[in-house]
Amino acid sequence: MKIKVISSSSAGNCYLLYNDTECLIIECGVKAAFIKQALNFDLSKVVGVIITHEHQDHCKAVREIVTAGIKVYASPGTIDAFNLLHHRLNKIEVGKTFTLGGFRIKSFDVKHDCKEPVGYLIEHEETGRIVFITDSYYCPYTFPGLNNIIIEANYSQEILDRKVSEGVSQQFLRDRVLESHMSLATCKEFLNANDLTAVNNILLIHLSDNNSNANQFRQEVLDQTAKNVHIADKGLCINFNKTPF
Ligand SMILES: [Zn+2]
Ligand SMILES: [Zn+2]
Repeated sequence: MKIKVISSSSAGNCYLLYNDTECLIIECGVKAAFIKQALNFDLSKVVGVIITHEHQDHCKAVREIVTAGIKVYASPGTIDAFNLLHHRLNKIEVGKTFTLGGFRIKSFDVKHDCKEPVGYLIEHEETGRIVFITDSYYCPYTFPGLNNIIIEANYSQEILDRKVSEGVSQQFLRDRVLESHMSLATCKEFLNANDLTAVNNILLIHLSDNNSNANQFRQEVLDQTAKNVHIADKGLCINFNKTPF
């Protein structure tokens, strides 16, 4: 299994988890054309799209996706917030496991400023157990037996405060970030709270353009965990299996 980052920022989020026969799309917050292009215009192996919440940077392409014949899954609150009626939109009960191709998926609640945001626990025989957390200022849960982690590391408190004092960033924007996105420190606390023994990759996503430092973030998480740590740069494509082989 591989993961491809189509985009990962407040400008748009979309990730493809795929092998030769199937592809799960996580978020569709980019132009549909970019998703189709990344799939070489072959949608036949797409088993579905899972979306965490209704902010545009996570669901921009939802209308075109369902029109193209692909099923979309999200929490009831998120689907309602799309303001779109379509038979390929599926409301998933938070905490209930469902299956898309070889993927077993379960959602859990996260902390963000929208209706019913969720994170996902995704299991596949090739990837093992993956946790996907984005747009959440905190995660109170721990997940046993993780093999791969995809988690937001949006900002560093230090950089954010410096930008405000320099007048580059405004106070109200700073406050919104604190109440809706995950800091590097909180991301590291989450990693510290979970058993990482069987973890192969840690993919850091949704870094803020202004308030992050990719090299520093990667190094700090690497120093703490000694795992394969990646930054979700646009176009990144890496093996995403339960073992490094
Ligand atoms: Zn976002
Ligand atoms: Zn959001």
